[in-house]
Amino acid sequence: MKLASRVACWFLAVVSLVSCSRSRINWILMDETEHFTFYAANSAEAAVPPLAHELEASYDRITKDLQVAAAGRFPVYVFPDIETYHQAIGRLDASASSVGTVQGTAVWLVSPLNPGGALDSQSVLTAGVHEFTHAAVNYLNGSLDQNNYQIPIWLNEGLAGYEARQMTPDWRARIAQRVADGAFPPSVATSCLTDSIR
Ligand SMILES: [Zn+2]
Repeated sequence: MKLASRVACWFLAVVSLVSCSRSRINWILMDETEHFTFYAANSAEAAVPPLAHELEASYDRITKDLQVAAAGRFPVYVFPDIETYHQAIGRLDASASSVGTVQGTAVWLVSPLNPGGALDSQSVLTAGVHEFTHAAVNYLNGSLDQNNYQIPIWLNEGLAGYEARQMTPDWRARIAQRVADGAFPPSVATSCLTDSIR
């Protein structure tokens, strides 16, 4: 292959890689509440009011617990469906219960009004609170541009699960059983058995 052809191929490969990895979603600025800025994709607009209500209702409690005094609003992006969301995070093989994540201090969430097959609307709203907790932890750690790896995963997930009130008696019973079965490293198991996670 001639040099010019090789350069052209390389250029096209880079261009296609960049355009494929960039989100093609047309984000619509829907609302600015006291502590959040909401963007929705087409056909996800109706999910913003219930999500805004859920997040604002949790904001004071979570930021007080974490002692976060944020200077600005947290961005929230609402995806229209689970397929579009999985495409955006680059995980087409993700499970149907994977409905949210954070990018720095931005929350990404599937529309609670179109949650897909695995979860109901309230579970997705709760997942939004879970992801907001991660965003607040990222804010606290100054990790604004990427996911926060400065905190152990078990602690980060423990905080998010606690604040989103996902640690139901049933969940705790299952975790206690897994600890008893030796499913966790000793340091994590010890934490699970104390009152630090309730
Ligand atoms: Zn999490």
